[in-house]
Amino acid sequence: MNRRHFLRASALFASMGLLSRGGLFSQTRSMASMPDGFVRLRRNVGIFNGRGGTIGWLASPDALAVVDTQLPDTAAKCLAGIPQRGDRQIDALINTHHHGDHTSGNSVFRPVVKKIVAHKNVPGLQRAAAARAKPPALDKQVYADTTFAETWSLALGGSRDGAETIHARHFGPAHTSGDIIVLFEKANIVHMGDLVFNRLHPVIDRAGGASIAGWIATLETAAKTYPADAIYVFGHGGATPRFGVTGGRDDLLAMRDYLTGLLDHTHRQIAAGKSRAEIITLDKLPGFEEYQQTRRLASNLGVTHDEIINAPRA
Ligand SMILES: [Zn+2]
Repeated sequence: MNRRHFLRASALFASMGLLSRGGLFSQTRSMASMPDGFVRLRRNVGIFNGRGGTIGWLASPDALAVVDTQLPDTAAKCLAGIPQRGDRQIDALINTHHHGDHTSGNSVFRPVVKKIVAHKNVPGLQRAAAARAKPPALDKQVYADTTFAETWSLALGGSRDGAETIHARHFGPAHTSGDIIVLFEKANIVHMGDLVFNRLHPVIDRAGGASIAGWIATLETAAKTYPADAIYVFGHGGATPRFGVTGGRDDLLAMRDYLTGLLDHTHRQIAAGKSRAEIITLDKLPGFEEYQQTRRLASNLGVTHDEIINAPRA
């Protein structure tokens, strides 16, 4: 690289924040030394893959945050590996929704987090699900202490490189009636929680207030609301790197298309006079044959049927 090219590249790196403290060199070093399961995505934000819904994390000298907590054993691994934490308190733990594979690790994080944030429906949904569980799991629950109806945000850190602003927003019932989407504004990373099961048959929690029509609308609004070049994080993804737990706006729209396909197919079956029992005996949803977790298809067809005919929620 000649001097002119070097200067141009330096200016570019500097504009990307890569030559600053905590920049390219420390990023390279920290990537090399990331503990098992940790992936840095952009700026100070990354993911942790253990068992259960993908955990998002923010770690800088000025700010620490976590999105979802999986299960107690993997939550402990995640907590131990969060970059740069030392003995600092975590500024916020955010639960994208109430499901156990996203909140069971709350107990591990509780002593070291300043607040647990969730949509206002989440504590009630979490309590009801724990009471229904076999055996009941009420004594294992740790609930959000900070809840909101539509939007919540938190600005963290003062330094140019370490600052981040987190925005959370509820768009209405979808996967449950308490889903939120979490944006790390400066990193331009959006955690979708379980609003995207990337190329997997999703869980549709009708007892937890799910709405397939609402879910479709939420994904369309989200695709318009967040930046086109955002990195999206998904609660669950396929085994292949191509359709894993991170992706782009196209993956939101693919999830919307799956839900639309499910709704359209079930509408046609009902119109053709098929019973619920007949509708749920289907091996592959036409157009979505490659989707994994096929054991969920029957239950998804059942809840779709119930939503269309407006059956009482279980
Ligand atoms: Zn879920």
